[in-house]
Amino acid sequence: MMDPKTHPSFDGHEDVVFVGGDTQGFAGIVAIHSTAIGPAAGGCRIWDYDSAADALTDALRLSRGMTYKNAMAELPLGGGKAVIYRINTDRVDAFQKFGAEVEKLNGRYITAEDVGATVADMRAIASRTTYVAGIPKEHGQAGGDPSPMTALGVFVSIKALLGGSVQGKTIAVQGVGAVGFNLCRLLKDEGAKLIVADVNRANLQRAEALGVEIAPVDQIHAIGADIFSPCALGAGLNERTIPELGAAIICGAANNQLATEEDGARLVARNITYAPDYVVNAGGIINVSAEYLGEAADVVETRVRAIAPRLLHVLETAKSERLTPHQAADRIVRERLAAARKN
Ligand code: NAD
Repeated sequence: MMDPKTHPSFDGHEDVVFVGGDTQGFAGIVAIHSTAIGPAAGGCRIWDYDSAADALTDALRLSRGMTYKNAMAELPLGGGKAVIYRINTDRVDAFQKFGAEVEKLNGRYITAEDVGATVADMRAIASRTTYVAGIPKEHGQAGGDPSPMTALGVFVSIKALLGGSVQGKTIAVQGVGAVGFNLCRLLKDEGAKLIVADVNRANLQRAEALGVEIAPVDQIHAIGADIFSPCALGAGLNERTIPELGAAIICGAANNQLATEEDGARLVARNITYAPDYVVNAGGIINVSAEYLGEAADVVETRVRAIAPRLLHVLETAKSERLTPHQAADRIVRERLAAARKN
């Protein structure tokens, strides 16, 4: 395994811990990017990487992303991420052992679900440590499935971008999974016209029942609409798709929508307004953090609704500072991190 400090994605991470090993029945990495604002929070991804080096790349990139997302959402949390890239023992046993590793970090890292992880996995972790979220809670307490809150954050952002109402507006939604479907419901309830695409037939049928129009998967980005909302996978805004985009505003939940840094500039050159993904899709982490901090469910909704004015502030900063929206968001976060380090 390469030294994390010489890895191209290393960004001054505070700690990178290799957990498990041949005798443990699982192997993973916990990357702690920053604890300047609070304990490093970010989910645990279980993925079949081609190599341990690929797992390290993901852990480094994703943990840095969590620092930015948490700081932007004004949560009292830093950024971290775990990846588990091999399990060759009983799954419960593997997650219990992983929980013991999280416990050893003494609260510097808080875990939760990410791609590939389940509530059952979190329960196994919770048998060894309290530094875990993502476990359904009692009525009235924050917790459980974060996707409705992620959808709400995107919804209030779309509304703000359209001047306060989606009535009669056309929204093209790419991906109607957990977040995309909840978003469609909110938009439909307020009178928007929806055009959607998905590769999953069952998810498409569920959306169809809302009375949406269906577009081909390879065309959805090019549909003439008021808003294009990427809610599927990352890197959807790239050299190939940007010249074809049919909406003047992009606002969706997908993580890492820009394939490269230059794509942010490409959007500006086409006069397309881009709502930075990590600003608008923070509803899920806001929900998870409230669960961890033992807060009430209604606190979450207030915080998620605050995403809309925050987005407008980022876009104004971008305009006045002649930055892309993504660069403006990053700059705001870096200032917050620098201020936290001084205190
Ligand atoms: P999901 O897996 O439930 O839904 C994704 C949907 O996209 C699925 O229906 C899938 O079939 C579809 N899809 C995949 N490839 C596609 C393609 N090429 N064209 C059209 N549709 C395609 O995932 P989700 O939880 O809804 O998350 C959606 C996105 O939002 C992801 O990028 C995720 O990382 C991000 N996100 C989710 C949350 C959350 O709370 N779930 C929070 C923050 C960010």
